[in-house]
Amino acid sequence: MQLYIHVPFCRSRCYYCSFYSQPLARGGAGVEQLRLYLTGLLEEISLWAERLGQSSPRTRLESVYFGGGTPSILPIQSVEMIMKKLRAHFSLAPGAEITFEGNPESILEFGYAAELARFGINRLSLGVQSLDDTMLRLLGRPHTAREAIAAVESAQVCGFSNISLDMIWGLPGQRLRLWLEDLKTAVSLKPQHLSCYGLTLEEGTPLADQVKRGDLELPDEKEQAAMFAYGSDYLESAGFLHYEISNFARMGFKGRHSLGYWEGRDYIGLGPSATGTLKSRRWTNPPDLQAWLSAVQNRGIAADYEELEHGTRVLELIMLRLRTDRGMRLQAFKQLTGRDFVSDNRQFIHALHKKGMVRLRNGYLSLTSKGMLVSDSILGFLFNSTQDMLNQLPAGQKKELGKR
Ligand code: SF4
Repeated sequence: MQLYIHVPFCRSRCYYCSFYSQPLARGGAGVEQLRLYLTGLLEEISLWAERLGQSSPRTRLESVYFGGGTPSILPIQSVEMIMKKLRAHFSLAPGAEITFEGNPESILEFGYAAELARFGINRLSLGVQSLDDTMLRLLGRPHTAREAIAAVESAQVCGFSNISLDMIWGLPGQRLRLWLEDLKTAVSLKPQHLSCYGLTLEEGTPLADQVKRGDLELPDEKEQAAMFAYGSDYLESAGFLHYEISNFARMGFKGRHSLGYWEGRDYIGLGPSATGTLKSRRWTNPPDLQAWLSAVQNRGIAADYEELEHGTRVLELIMLRLRTDRGMRLQAFKQLTGRDFVSDNRQFIHALHKKGMVRLRNGYLSLTSKGMLVSDSILGFLFNSTQDMLNQLPAGQKKELGKR
């Protein structure tokens, strides 16, 4: 089982962000926000331990992920209480991956990273985003490039030997050369993992508004494609495996928690706005601190859930598994649908194969790095063709397949 904990606070809102989080108020109001959150979270841990414990005592966690928001905004004593509570109610698998997302400015606080390591947190994911101060200001990040570098070094000194850095490409005014310089600096810090995301303009964010008004200009499509392609090539040449569209890891350091999502494993999500999926049932916690707290206290968490239909499970199989270098097991598709995926999409897959964009190996279909560059179009085509195929199935067969 995997467990995700959403921490819904940030120091301030970055200009591109649409995740659920709220700025932590200063003084007493902030202390109260944190108190409410911690109260709810500890109760939610007990609630799930009790529910899951009905079928098996002390559920074993293979991975825990503190995401947000900014988990490193939590007082270190709160992190300690959460970890103690988890250990009291769940069993952590030997070598379980426990990831903590942090922003450089808070990881740098004296003793913070050392304490995280002491609590058994063994993987740090740092939101660096850029190593250029102009870009950081434009994104509204509350730290400088120098602080980001210092945070990585400080975490290493504190004993973290599994560090991931989040980086963004395709920023307004960014050019290929600047992106490659960012990557070189990032690699020189010796992280074990890099997540490199293309900037997505989210409707309603200050950055999207600035671009819409014409105050800022994004790099054109050709330049963005070059950033992805040259960036991936560079990271592979530096010894990182391109194992998912946006993720690169040194040997043995793939993000196991995220891999679980792409491979469709069950997980529970705690905290406001967190999502979970258990045995084909998916729920989302209220994206509001007070509403979530009431749901926890009334034991109403996951009371409203979506039963994942057969069609959704099939489409997720394609859309998630094909993101990874391992790809989709063709037999898994056949078991769910009774169909042969390659035969159903023969012409398309053949054309992609000729262009070196897909590979067929050991019963798996996967995208190559070249294919990942245009993954949106490839996955879009395969999504639509599979949806058409599912729509054309006779009602009786659909019902039968739904039981799988
Ligand atoms: S720190 Fe992360 S979650 Fe918070 S506003 Fe910035 S991008 Fe969003």
